[in-house]
Amino acid sequence: MNKGKVVVLSGPSGVGKGTVHQKLINEMGGYELSVSVTTRAPREGEKEGVNYFYRTQEQFDQLIKEGAFVEYAYRYGNSYGTLKSEAERITANNHNMVLDIEYDGALNIKKAVPDALLIFLLPPSLAVLKERIVGRGSENLETLQARYGSAVEEMREYAHYYDYLVVNDD
Ligand code: 5GP
Repeated sequence: MNKGKVVVLSGPSGVGKGTVHQKLINEMGGYELSVSVTTRAPREGEKEGVNYFYRTQEQFDQLIKEGAFVEYAYRYGNSYGTLKSEAERITANNHNMVLDIEYDGALNIKKAVPDALLIFLLPPSLAVLKERIVGRGSENLETLQARYGSAVEEMREYAHYYDYLVVNDD
């Protein structure tokens, strides 16, 4: 793949996007993750500037006003956004950019960058997905239900817009 390409990974909560993009970055070389801004609290083990930039909703709104985002979306009660500065940083490093974002963001990126590669990860079954979401143990019951409920809708309504559907069974 030529440098400067954009790869977007999406898929329902708990499908393993984090593991897949980490493997891609560690094993392929030449890829960097675009670190998004979020208003959700860090999960155990997550680090500022590595997994996300953690900001308050007020700070997030200010970034919107400043035009800092390529795209942003509201999911499961929190805001998430892709920073223009991340795209600039990764391009300046002459690397390919990997984005772990949900479908609205992915479709917006495809409009802005038509040759972006869109990959949708699927679980081997709904039962496995449920186990993975619950097993992560980082969300309260309400958020778990929201994440599981929208997983089914996302797969049915949005997966077909993607260039590749990949079953993450490993
Ligand atoms: P989580 O809270 O599980 O880290 O992420 C929730 C959802 O937000 C995931 O589907 C993730 O891909 C998506 N997401 C993370 N960052 C961004 C972003 O910058 N923009 C958009 N549109 N979605 C994002």
